Amino acid sequence: MYDYDLLVVGSANADLVIGVERRPGAGETVLGGDLSVHPGGKGANQAVAAARLGARTALLARVGDDGHGRLLLDSLRSAGVDPAGVLAGGAPTGVALITVDPSGDNSIVVSPGANGRLTPADVRAAEGLLRASRVVSAQLEIPLETVEEVVRALPSGTRFVLNPSPPRPLPAEVLAACDPLIVNEHEARVILGEAGAGEEPEDWARGLLALGPRSVVVTLGAEGALVYDGSGATRVASVKVDAVDTTGAGDAFTAALAWRLGTGASLAEAAGYAARVGAAAVTKPGAQESYPTAEEVRAL
Ligand code: ADP
Repeated sequence: MYDYDLLVVGSANADLVIGVERRPGAGETVLGGDLSVHPGGKGANQAVAAARLGARTALLARVGDDGHGRLLLDSLRSAGVDPAGVLAGGAPTGVALITVDPSGDNSIVVSPGANGRLTPADVRAAEGLLRASRVVSAQLEIPLETVEEVVRALPSGTRFVLNPSPPRPLPAEVLAACDPLIVNEHEARVILGEAGAGEEPEDWARGLLALGPRSVVVTLGAEGALVYDGSGATRVASVKVDAVDTTGAGDAFTAALAWRLGTGASLAEAAGYAARVGAAAVTKPGAQESYPTAEEVRAL
């Protein structure tokens, strides 16, 4: 009945990374190593993660009519994502300029570029994609009014999953559509505001649920996740792994959880699977390059 298990609405960026001995201060120039260019952005990451697991996945996003846009499209296609919803033009492809020093500390400048031009009208024009998708997931690297339009355009019976990253206070209409709202500690604290935060993940989950979402998931790094759906809280363990690079683990977690929910899994079951996917993703460097196949998740 549905053509897609998951439609991701979100960002696509080229991550430009240079290793440096020391990150430059104001007015300073330093020499670094060779440039490496990686496909990224939370939307593209989620879409690639889901497709690699075997989900029939589409992405609604905007890239520039440029080389970085073509790099992103290649990465999406080779993971098996349907790129029909990836629009081109309006601004250069979004870019993250990243310098990393030997201790792993980094400085990042993000130019949202075309991501900032994904508009509510683009969502309305993608009505067919929305209708064809069992689950829709989003993040906040695109304009908030575009996410609001997704919520308004959601066909009845289509499930909506949001990872509010980078975090900001959310309108009640968006919160009410989330099933679940997926946050890490930082995102929980920003959305709750310091006064309402509390010290334990259970406190954050309870506080967030009171804001209107139908369910909440708090990711806890190596500790796994906490699932909260009104009938109570359930802790979900991750797998013990040697973590190499946690970049993009949250995106893989969200994508896997959204996909499993669409296959009929309970929230706790879906989070258990997503925790294994997140764990697999931290065992390899990079974001999209680190995402596992279903086979690799089974073998973990
Ligand atoms: P984010 O990247 O958004 O901060 P987390 O760091 O909480 O998200 O990671 C998302 C999920 O990935 C976790 O819920 C967990 O299942 C898995 N994960 C992350 N780091 C580790 C780790 N060091 N060991 C095992 N699993 C991990």
